[in-house]
Order: sequence, then structure tokens, then C-alpha cells
Amino acid sequence: MPELPEVEITARRLRAALPGRRIVDLEVPDPRLLRGAAPDAPPERTVAEWRSRLTGAAFAGLGRRAKFLLLALDTGETLVGHLRMTGKLMVLPPVAARGHRFAAALDDGSRLVFVDPRRLGELWRVPTVELAALPALARLGPDALDEPSPAARLAALGARSRQPIKAWLMDQRHLGGLGNICAAEILFHAGLPPDRPAADLPWEAWQRLAAAIPEYLRWAIEAQWEGELMYLGERDAVNPFALYRRAGAPCPRCGTPIRRLVIAGRGTYVCPRCQA
Ligand SMILES: [Zn+2]
Repeated sequence: MPELPEVEITARRLRAALPGRRIVDLEVPDPRLLRGAAPDAPPERTVAEWRSRLTGAAFAGLGRRAKFLLLALDTGETLVGHLRMTGKLMVLPPVAARGHRFAAALDDGSRLVFVDPRRLGELWRVPTVELAALPALARLGPDALDEPSPAARLAALGARSRQPIKAWLMDQRHLGGLGNICAAEILFHAGLPPDRPAADLPWEAWQRLAAAIPEYLRWAIEAQWEGELMYLGERDAVNPFALYRRAGAPCPRCGTPIRRLVIAGRGTYVCPRCQA
């Protein structure tokens, strides 16, 4: 499932391919991907409107905020993408035909495609000057990678919460970008039990977390950089993570069998010894 590291990898790859490229045609086999139009508008009208606004537009810049991709156009609009569970946004050569929900033909013959087997991904078209007001972006806390939070900020915010620290880390209002995998792995690296209420963590635990978050994210980007980006659960995907989906396997640090728990409704993984 794409979280901050996978979205950052996507952003870097799109940044190398898209700026300067112009859209020459648009194909939207699944208009439910498109957001921001009148909710009751018939899909064919929504697609026609997107096609007329995007055809001729060139990509001006590529950004990422938490798990959102920001594709700025020279028309004053920005495409905002969220990959959700299985989405991939990538530039492919024209011959690469694959199932996709959205494809923009580009002026060099390549195509920007949104592939998304579970069909939960979303794509907004927003005036760039109104980007900060988009509700999905407005409620985000500081980006976990680009705006690392000092221990003092995390501790002050966490002191008011009885949420288990695992769920607290995944709350996008606290930090933008961490999902289920990142939170489980970061807590392992910081040596903290995922079910401990945030308010009960000592100062020293927040210091360990503040260091572990950007360190882990940089590692996860590096570890998945080579080759095609694959998500756990996809056929042939290699699991790069220390604990995630490794119940029963020995902890890479101490050898104790890794245990699976459910915290706030989400499956998580823990070393009962390293994270006591
Ligand atoms: Zn261990």
C-alpha cells in the first residue's frame, strides 16, 4: 500500500519525466477517479470538461505533500492525486498498454497513466492558488519527511492524546504521510510498544521517535528505489520491511518471533522483546 516513501518515489520519477511535457489527449475509462466536479454531473460531461481543460496544458512542476501528489500545470491548475490502496501514477512508453483508469497522452508519445486495481484512488483538478484550501490538504500536519517535527512538538501534541501511539502516528493531522506500514516499522526502530497511549510516553521516547521517523523514511525510499515500484500483496513484490507481514519470523534484532496485533482496527507487527 503506498505511503509516504512510495509516493515520494513516484513524485521523483514523475519529476524526471513530466515538467515541460504537454498533454495532447486525455482518456478516462473510469471517471469515478475524477474529483472536484459537480457530484451529480453525468460522467461523460465531467470527462469532456477535464479533456477541454487539460488538452494543451504543460506540466510546470511536481510536488508531494504527505501522501498526495501535486502536478502543477501551466494553465493555473494543479492535479492532486491520492493513490489510496493500489494506485500507481506513472509515465509509460506508448506501446505499454495496461489496465488504467486515466491516461494523458503526452507530446513526446509517452503517456501519464493512473493504474489502480482496487479503484480507490482519487484525482482532483484545483486552481493552484486555491490548493492550500483543498480540504484534503488543509487538514494535514507537517510533512513527516520534508518538515521533520522536533521531539518537543511531538511531545506537546501527544501529551493531550490517549490514542495508542501507533494510531497517533497515522493521524494525518499530527504528521502527514505515515500509514500502517510506516508507523509499525518506525515504532520498531524506536523500540516502542505500539499500544502505549501517546500521553504516557516519556520525553526520551519522543526523542527516539523524532529521530526514527525521517531516518526510516529515507531508508524506505532508498530500499524501494530500484526497479518497478511494487506494493506488498502484488504478485512478485519483495517485502523490504523488518516486521511488517512477518508474523512468526525471527526479529532481525533479537531473534524473538514477531507477533501480529490489532490496534485501533489495523493489523500491526511487533517484537515483544525489542518493543517491551
Ligand atoms: Zn526483537
